[in-house]
Amino acid sequence: MKILKTLTLRGPNYWSIRRHKLIVMRLDLEELAEKPSNEIPGFYEGIVQALPSLVEHFCSPGCRGGFLSRVQQGTYMGHIVEHVALELQTLAGMSVGFGRTRETSTPGTYQVVFEYLNEQAGRYAGRAAVRLCQSIVETGSYAESELEQDLQDLRELWADAALGPSTETLVKEAESRGIPWMPLSARFMIQLGYGVHSKRLQATMSDRTSILGVELACDKEGTKRILRDAGIPVPRGTVIQYLDELEDAILDVGGYPLVIKPLDGNHGRGITINVTNWEQAEAAYDAASNASKTRSVIVERYYEGSDHRVLVVNGKLVAVAERIPAHVIGDGKSTIAQLIEETNRDPNRGEGHDNVLTRIEVDRTSLQLLEAQGYTLDSIPPVGEMCKLRATANLSTGGIAIDRTDEIHPENIWLAERVVKIIGLDIAGIDIVTPDISRPLREVGGVIVEVNAAPGFRMHVRPSHGIPRNVAEPVMDMLFPPGSPSRIPILAVTGTNGKTTTTRLVAHIMKQTGQTVGYTTTDGTYIGNYLVEAGDNTGPQSAELILKDPTVEIAVLETARGGILRSGLAFDRCDIGVVLNVAADHLGLGDIDTIEQMAQVKSVLAEAVSPQGYAILNADDPLVSQMAKRVKSQIAYFSMTPDNPIVQRHTQQGGLAAVYENGYLSILKGDWTLRIEQATKVPMTMEGRAPFQIANALAACLATFAHGMKIEDIRAALKTFIASVQQTPGRMNLFNLGDYHALIDYAHNPHSYEALGGFVRNWPGERIGIIGGPGDRRDEDFVTLGKLSAQMFDRIIIKEDDDTRGRPRGDAAQWIALGIEEVNPAMKYETILEETQAVNQALDLAPKGSLVVILPESVSRAIELIEARKPIPSNLSSP
Ligand code: ATP
Ligand code: ATP
Ligand code: MG
Ligand code: MG
Repeated sequence: MKILKTLTLRGPNYWSIRRHKLIVMRLDLEELAEKPSNEIPGFYEGIVQALPSLVEHFCSPGCRGGFLSRVQQGTYMGHIVEHVALELQTLAGMSVGFGRTRETSTPGTYQVVFEYLNEQAGRYAGRAAVRLCQSIVETGSYAESELEQDLQDLRELWADAALGPSTETLVKEAESRGIPWMPLSARFMIQLGYGVHSKRLQATMSDRTSILGVELACDKEGTKRILRDAGIPVPRGTVIQYLDELEDAILDVGGYPLVIKPLDGNHGRGITINVTNWEQAEAAYDAASNASKTRSVIVERYYEGSDHRVLVVNGKLVAVAERIPAHVIGDGKSTIAQLIEETNRDPNRGEGHDNVLTRIEVDRTSLQLLEAQGYTLDSIPPVGEMCKLRATANLSTGGIAIDRTDEIHPENIWLAERVVKIIGLDIAGIDIVTPDISRPLREVGGVIVEVNAAPGFRMHVRPSHGIPRNVAEPVMDMLFPPGSPSRIPILAVTGTNGKTTTTRLVAHIMKQTGQTVGYTTTDGTYIGNYLVEAGDNTGPQSAELILKDPTVEIAVLETARGGILRSGLAFDRCDIGVVLNVAADHLGLGDIDTIEQMAQVKSVLAEAVSPQGYAILNADDPLVSQMAKRVKSQIAYFSMTPDNPIVQRHTQQGGLAAVYENGYLSILKGDWTLRIEQATKVPMTMEGRAPFQIANALAACLATFAHGMKIEDIRAALKTFIASVQQTPGRMNLFNLGDYHALIDYAHNPHSYEALGGFVRNWPGERIGIIGGPGDRRDEDFVTLGKLSAQMFDRIIIKEDDDTRGRPRGDAAQWIALGIEEVNPAMKYETILEETQAVNQALDLAPKGSLVVILPESVSRAIELIEARKPIPSNLSSP
């Protein structure tokens, strides 16, 4: 077996609209192509032994053991690889279940599709699955150690990719509300929502978190001073820089017991609690000074009580946790070392912040603390005796948390909410030391030790005891108050031909609202009237640029087949999805070999329209109108004739449509006809002579009308939309050369030649064509070009590209000539292989009133040749 190619899909795609995260592996079965599993001796036994849990895969039989019975009866290796890739991920803690396997048009080569949670892990699982199956085919087994290594690697990839526990809680809450999110490329920032409505988070700091608030909270001494000035109980203390200030400081704060800690510390580093004599004070001073960047040390009174964390979001208290430092409780039999080991065996304890709890590590502080309590690691404490192993209650040093949200006294709630306002934070964690949180601090002598910006959510979301609190909910309510939008309208356009033109027109119509429109096309990415980036930007990356941009209010996205196949759509759903047409082009690429398959690719966009939105479908194209069966949204049809039966049926039932009727572009709303404009007054239709442009305009008008645009605005936009050389080079660029006209168009498949023919045949004077195409097309494509040309031109010059792409010079021209003669043996044509020469000769000899149509290899060179002849503004369309 050989993996030929691996794709990572991230949005609605050809295989599934709902499942976005899929790996698509193109797999050549090679020697196994002709060998179903039942014909491989020992394969069934080998796979059951390696992965017994495959028994849980139902597969097509729909029952437990279903998949394994398929293996026993005989199925192809691609299908088995799919199930193994899913199972490996599941065994490594990433539960996935969706998969599909299809043979491609190349016999023995399969597309194996399976779900992933993490991209890297998904790709890895694919490779490992092939390795595993190959090994069982060859040796009858897969070494247990190999499998263990694969699972270990997969677990590591999963862990490396995991978001922090707080971010994860926030992202989950966003997902449950349908708020889209994406990671940004720097500083671990997450973007929530699209465009102008987007918000940012970094752990539990939001883009509304005040920098002044954060800086004040990080300055413990400053915080205390500001709080004390406001009459809030804080520890009595002072800051010193040198050891010789220590004695005075101790007197200053009222003597022992003391706490000595670094001014700029965190995570409890360098803190000594309950200092009761000079010897301890000196040692504590050294520890604190060494842990401080500025060598500044806080000397504070020690307050009795336990540690509480109070979380305040958007001015309201949302959770309270009591935190208890790492400890063990005696059972009268085990030593302290054994008790620690026992505690660490809890599967909830992991390294760092990744798990619910963190493992306890014995260090110098723990030994000192034990000594102060009269123990060593080998002591056996009596039943029920609590032995502290840490002075501070940080979860990251092995502490535990107990939810106390329902116990806090109302006066303390009032105090906490006031504290956070005074410091100036939208999300803050207040550290309170008090013997009893259910009584006012004032009464029991509790103090506020610190205010934390970016407080961790772990202890509230997954406390060791008590009720878990969804603290992400108030954060999301703050960022996106109920009823406020997180998304911007997305109008997307696909089809074989006319995408760029239609996308530009939709963008132009939407600009009438005065809002900032971001749009992507084959020419580039634009925001408002400015080009952001030139290039063929019809894939998900360009779309993402628009959706991420905080200035964009409306997104209009040309969506080409390439991007849909390569990685799926960039958005989970859109408001308007336009499908213009499906014609033969790009067949044979990306395992899309038939026009029906191509229709299914383009149908992804229609199916991704949200139920409240509209799929805009071409009623004149059966492959497009059939998509109606699969869409979940509302539907509106466009057609070049009001007689189209689909349109008629649809409007009789009160549906929405757009048609070309009596020379007008009109919207049909049930029984009513709303005329937008006469085609002859719409510049892009070239006085109504370019039918395909009328079709594109109908699609754009319908899309924007369905989205809520007013007819007047659509009309105004149609009249000012011009397919100029600057805006759309190579797309129906018409030049007035005084006595005659020239047209440059980059029609590049039979469907677009035909469309062009619709315009050319409407030209009142003589029609001259300069035709040819890239050499890598099939012979029959050149014949078709010849045939279609013979039907639209009076005279033809056949030319070839400078780059014949491997074809002998003159060969393509002969195929074209064949096509011409087949349709019209009397046709006047000549062959001038060199393009510039062909163009110049045609222009030199063009009769009065004629139209010279150029299908150039290089659009810019053809434009130069024409501009050299000083064209005058055209009354049809002004280039
Ligand atoms: P973290 O990063 O966890 O917030 P930190 O290094 O910033 O820790 P503090 O918050 O100042 O340090 O103190 C850590 C813990 O030490 C407090 O939560 C409290 O339990 C205890 N503590 C600090 N100062 C005092 C004090 N004056 N009296 C009693 N306990 C104190
Ligand atoms: P690409 O795949 O190159 O991005 P596109 O779908 O964006 O193409 P346009 O750039 O708008 O299409 O138009 C390209 C050419 O296709 C036009 O110059 C014209 O010849 C032809 N064309 C445009 N609209 C249609 C249509 N509705 N039906 C058939 N052909 C069309
Ligand atoms: Mg603290
Ligand atoms: Mg395009």
